[in-house]
Amino acid sequence: MSEKRISKPIRVGNVTVGGGAPIVVQSMCNTDTRDVMSTIRQIRELEEVGCEVIRVAVPDMEAAEAIPSIKKRIKIPLVADIHFDYRLALASIKGGVDMLRINPGNIGEPARVKAVVLAAKERRIPIRIGLNAGSLPRAYHPELSVARRMVEAALEEVHLLESLDFDLIKISLKAFDVPTTVEAYRDIADKVPYPLHVGITEAGTPRTGIIRSSVGIGTLLYLGIGDTIRVSLTSAPREEVFAAYEILKSLNLRERGPILVSCPTCGRTEVDLIPVAEAVEKELMRISKPVKVAVMGCAVNGPGEARDADVGIACGKGKGILFKKGEKIGVVEEKDFIIALMREVDKL
Ligand code: SF4
Repeated sequence: MSEKRISKPIRVGNVTVGGGAPIVVQSMCNTDTRDVMSTIRQIRELEEVGCEVIRVAVPDMEAAEAIPSIKKRIKIPLVADIHFDYRLALASIKGGVDMLRINPGNIGEPARVKAVVLAAKERRIPIRIGLNAGSLPRAYHPELSVARRMVEAALEEVHLLESLDFDLIKISLKAFDVPTTVEAYRDIADKVPYPLHVGITEAGTPRTGIIRSSVGIGTLLYLGIGDTIRVSLTSAPREEVFAAYEILKSLNLRERGPILVSCPTCGRTEVDLIPVAEAVEKELMRISKPVKVAVMGCAVNGPGEARDADVGIACGKGKGILFKKGEKIGVVEEKDFIIALMREVDKL
């Protein structure tokens, strides 16, 4: 794994992004921001599953005016997502938002961008320059690859903000295409010191979107690139948070909650292992400690193959062997597989 790129850190509310801080997990509400109660309810649910920064869409003034009421009743930093209308950015800043996500290219004339940047600077609110491949104008450097076009466009925005003596910057360059996204981030990572928000845009439903996001985000993180991640899914935002942690856990970058190891089953399996693994997975959802739990399909290879699990069960015909770090600690009846395993998990 490559050494982590150390970026210039920024503070988003009480969360540090970049500068070697742990990679921050974020998501975006899919509620109507003007519906304050629903938005607060969703953010609290996301806080519970470990979301660390939350973004809301601010499409009109009523949404901007909802920010103070939302902000007051949540714990994690709030990011306002603004397109086109600089007045919404100004109102969001006034409402106490912790960060703005804008695409300065669609905010309009420089005087408007300047007004937003000056207001952000006064309150030390960072700005994410959020570029998506799909929103680049067709006429913009058509001779270049999509990745290069994104980088060029982002650099223009960076220079605009820097010319206003503003450096509380974070950048994202998202595309649906994974190689394009990876290429764009690798390129900009060498050109600017700022933290990078990494993700694959419009990745799809969980079935395909988690894979696409894992490949894209995982590749970048493996290369040491990325300070905060969002897994974009056509699903409830909490699924994005679960997926983000699984990506981070699989690269040993963050710990949160249990890791379930379960074997794929084979001709040696003598029990119906799939429902056992699924039941254990469900039970583990109530556990917050970082434990590794194994559910294996035979006593011959199971304990050995899952040697590094804190606790596990190797399920045989009618009976299972409970093991800790590969060492046998007991034998249980098939009807007690799940309860006995969970008792050991709770003891840890
Ligand atoms: S642990 Fe046993 S049942 Fe599971 S895949 Fe390995 S050999 Fe097959």
